[in-house]
Amino acid sequence: MLTKDLAICIRAVDYSETSQVVTFFTRDTGKIGAIAKGSKRPKSPFGGPIEMLSHGKIVFSDSSREKLATLTEFEPACGAPGAAGLQNDLFVLNCCLFAAELTNHLTDDYDPHPQLFDSFVQFIQDVQQDSDRTRILALTILFQLALLKEVGFQPILDHCANCKTPHAAHGVQSQTYFSSLANGLVCRDCEPNFPDKIRLSRNAAACLISLKQIPDATEKTLGEVEKVLVRHFTHLLGRPLKMAKHILKG
Ligand SMILES: [Zn+2]
Repeated sequence: MLTKDLAICIRAVDYSETSQVVTFFTRDTGKIGAIAKGSKRPKSPFGGPIEMLSHGKIVFSDSSREKLATLTEFEPACGAPGAAGLQNDLFVLNCCLFAAELTNHLTDDYDPHPQLFDSFVQFIQDVQQDSDRTRILALTILFQLALLKEVGFQPILDHCANCKTPHAAHGVQSQTYFSSLANGLVCRDCEPNFPDKIRLSRNAAACLISLKQIPDATEKTLGEVEKVLVRHFTHLLGRPLKMAKHILKG
């Protein structure tokens, strides 16, 4: 049976001299692994090798979900450059590759998340139109938070994840911590229970308590938030993230 869908390439590896195995995050089918036979031949049926981050319409057959699907058509969307087209801004490319890595690890095969797919496409479009590192980092952080929410790992940010006290009740002077074990922000009274907690600066805590502050935050604050998120994703996945070092400065 042939399935039509919209897809983003989130992983591509050479399978043979002429073919690739590609992981697509599709809109309505979820993540799939597919073999793209002949994609690297001079007369590729897909107009060339399938590039990381390229997105568009695909047709594939998946007679058995146990095995790789077979890609039969790939038509990149207009103005969707893929990784090669993003290479003039390395930070944008790295942020998109990081988003792809996280999406690959946090979603399951054949488990669709159409809203996350739309956010991912929008994210790629937004960052490639921007050249401001701080704004690109803000968009990357918002995408990571959207991803966590969509896959059911939304961290608890509006009140203490342990005692449920709203952060505001502690006053502006209070200390706020992030703990992966608590899955969110914890207050000063609760932090001794969570050995993995990290103390946040007031600005970083404010961004996480109220996400609408993220677009206006400084690069320093966003760097701190990103560090917390990388640590959290590493905890959730139980493995280091390949792209993290390219996102975190110094
Ligand atoms: Zn508490």
